[in-house]
Amino acid sequence: MSTTEAGPQKEPEAASSVPEEVSVESQRDAALRIDPQRLPLPEATQPLKIMWPYVGVLVGIHVIALYALIPWLFSWSGVILAIAGHFVFGMLGITIGYHRLLTHRGFTCPKWLEHSLAILGVCNLQDSPARWVAIHRMHHQHSDHQPDPHSPLASFLWGHVGWVVCRHKELDRTSHYERYVRDLLRDPFYLKLERRGFWFSVVVAHSLLIIMAGGIVGYLAGGTWLAALQLAASWGVWAVAVRTVFVLHGTWAVNSLSHVFGYRNYETRDESTNNWLVALLSHGEGWHNNHHAEPRAASHGHHWYEFDMSWWIIRGLESVGLAKDVVRPKAKAKAV
Ligand SMILES: [Zn+2]
Ligand SMILES: [Zn+2]
Repeated sequence: MSTTEAGPQKEPEAASSVPEEVSVESQRDAALRIDPQRLPLPEATQPLKIMWPYVGVLVGIHVIALYALIPWLFSWSGVILAIAGHFVFGMLGITIGYHRLLTHRGFTCPKWLEHSLAILGVCNLQDSPARWVAIHRMHHQHSDHQPDPHSPLASFLWGHVGWVVCRHKELDRTSHYERYVRDLLRDPFYLKLERRGFWFSVVVAHSLLIIMAGGIVGYLAGGTWLAALQLAASWGVWAVAVRTVFVLHGTWAVNSLSHVFGYRNYETRDESTNNWLVALLSHGEGWHNNHHAEPRAASHGHHWYEFDMSWWIIRGLESVGLAKDVVRPKAKAKAV
């Protein structure tokens, strides 16, 4: 592991034995990091105003996911679809599509593939591609400093979900979109998803399709309307709600946990960390300190033990000619 993993405070005696140049270097490194005191909430969220439609939808999906505790709604096919959906929608849609492709342009691919990945991303209830990308680019520009929209230094809950449900005056302004996602909105496909909240219709349509498919399979397998109803409901709970909740918290944990807990390979100007739990939940996004060090790199794992599933998928796409101009981390050599 490299140089900067946070450890316990050195005893004064031990500190005095550190060679002078190291001591000066660590003082400079400490000065580069921000004071991990609480940041105030972004000014543009003042006064705090709750966005009730977001709260309603998010509470709703969590309540439906809790129905998974009802034995009648259990099915192995629902569980398998939830796990598969975590990869298909979460990894391909959010991690690879929204984040590494659309936000950072870590690689290029044919338009049909880019749009397909974006649609998979939309199905995770994490807003339209343009809004997601604009917020994330803003985060990289100001991470853990004002006006970072979701720094957990304001409070852990704020960094995790508070920022999602509180109105932020800047984020919906045309000027914000023009500043951060002009490239994306030149494509009519993303503009269409933006208009009149069309992206949300896609979320609803994909949920209904999964529920209907459950009904059809249930009827074919059980031969009764009750069997159809049971599997439709089971797939709705497991393959839609449980999966969506897991993907949501995986993404939110990148913003919260991976700016608070974990180790650091690089001295970035923020508090980003590498966190294995988040990496597991989000298919490699938890190597977030590596990512802040080199945002454009399509690979986030910089050590052999920093497994990054999404990177292997991108490499797979590259090997069959579907991903091009793949950006590799330059600092990797320095980290080892
Ligand atoms: Zn970050
Ligand atoms: Zn990023």
